[in-house]
Amino acid sequence: MKKCVCTVCGYAYDPAVGDPDNGIAPGTAFDALPDGWACPTCGVGKDLFEPE
Ligand SMILES: [Zn+2]
Repeated sequence: MKKCVCTVCGYAYDPAVGDPDNGIAPGTAFDALPDGWACPTCGVGKDLFEPE
């Protein structure tokens, strides 16, 4: 699965890791993240992420 990078702060979402601090289990594809998910470091929405 591909990583996606936040265009604002550079945080990279890695599907292999997920976002456990925000309830996202490892193995969750970026496209499968809930619409309300936001960048854990700067808080922007999924629309400001791009494929790495
Ligand atoms: Zn960010």
